[in-house]
Amino acid sequence: MIKEIQAKSILRKHKKVDSWFLSKYGMNLYRGCTHNCAYCDGRAEGYYVSGEFGRDIEVKINAIEILKKELSPVRKRTPFEKGFAMVGGGVCDGYQPIEAKYELSRKTLEIVRDHNFPVHLLTKSTLIKRDVDIISQINKQNRAIVSFSFSSCSDAISKVFEPGIRPPSERLETIRFFKDHGIASGVFLMPVIPYVTDLAEVLEESVAKIKEAGADFIIFSGMTLKPGRQQDYFYNVLDSYDPQLKQQYEQIYPPSQWGGAKEEYYNAISHVFHAIARKYKIPVRIPLVLFKDILKENDLVMVILEHIDYLLKSRGERTPYGFAAYSVSQLKEPVSLMANSLTSLKGVGSATEKIILEILKTGSSSYYEKLMNA
Ligand code: SF4
Repeated sequence: MIKEIQAKSILRKHKKVDSWFLSKYGMNLYRGCTHNCAYCDGRAEGYYVSGEFGRDIEVKINAIEILKKELSPVRKRTPFEKGFAMVGGGVCDGYQPIEAKYELSRKTLEIVRDHNFPVHLLTKSTLIKRDVDIISQINKQNRAIVSFSFSSCSDAISKVFEPGIRPPSERLETIRFFKDHGIASGVFLMPVIPYVTDLAEVLEESVAKIKEAGADFIIFSGMTLKPGRQQDYFYNVLDSYDPQLKQQYEQIYPPSQWGGAKEEYYNAISHVFHAIARKYKIPVRIPLVLFKDILKENDLVMVILEHIDYLLKSRGERTPYGFAAYSVSQLKEPVSLMANSLTSLKGVGSATEKIILEILKTGSSSYYEKLMNA
């Protein structure tokens, strides 16, 4: 059922740039998603999506009008900062089938282009090919990144757990399509489904196919399973796939409000994924070349430090860089003004100071590049 609603606001400014997606601004044009993936956490009660998830959709019918007002320089007391606008994510997919009728994502891209923002799009839908003309224009002016999420590259598994979307083979084709148009394209391999798509052979098949399609990066993450609607719905689908698996799930998902699996489980699958990613030489974070010239100084330093933190943790090492990144993200002034007193920031010792000074001088860090290419 489609319900047209009036939204009060569309644009959200993040407190800090998200180093997974690089987004500074986010927007959701719909509520709910007919892609109806079995694992979707949009189904969880905490997101307050009304109606039957997977079937009912709310369309923010005034989204374009609101967005134009929100972006109007006349109404804005402080100017917008340069940073990626993210279309997608949250509890909807901006390119779910209803988009063919309402074209809210397309009209949003036109506004993003006219306001000279770079954009990062995340979808599971091949409908996004329709908008290659505007995405190319944004890419020429600034930068566009088109990302796709996958739980695996198996068409057979996807048919069970992602019944409302085109198979992974078509999404891989769509990556090639955007790469052929000179547009950066990456993969969010998330969530991987425990004991189904997190198996070493399934992961390796996914990474090999994604690499072959020409993706610029793969970002990996496990699945959450929140008690209530999300878990109940998922277990029904899982039983239809393999009724033996639920018992194993109960071992790794202790009852918790957030639906997280045990740390040992996440560490184990992360270890397997990273070994495969190293074998196929594919970046596991969005590469610097795609954001170096886009992010403001503090955001650039913060994202690089968070990437270093992630890369070290993925090797099982302890790191101070996440803490340092947070301190930089809280600064009200450009970090370069503190070049002589960086170690006064919480979490910044002499090694981090050296990295920050190198980023300020060159826009990069040799230590970071070494880790990314390891
Ligand atoms: S495409 Fe994304 S938002 Fe839509 S049902 Fe699947 S996981 Fe949920």
